[in-house]
Amino acid sequence: MICNKCKTEMVNDCAVTSYMGVEVTITKKRKGMFNNSKDNVKACVCPNCGSVEFYIEKYDDFID
Ligand SMILES: [Zn+2]
Repeated sequence: MICNKCKTEMVNDCAVTSYMGVEVTITKKRKGMFNNSKDNVKACVCPNCGSVEFYIEKYDDFID
């Protein structure tokens, strides 16, 4: 991923943790299915300006 602010290559795959040390997950309830879409949130960090972007890897699961 490229930084939106300074166009530097960002450092991918940084873990996102809360103050209690629990990983942040993102979920979406699915219509008519028992399983919810769920994935851990990851971040990439710009080593030049400190900008942070959040992303998930299993984004295909979130398509309706
Ligand atoms: Zn940057």
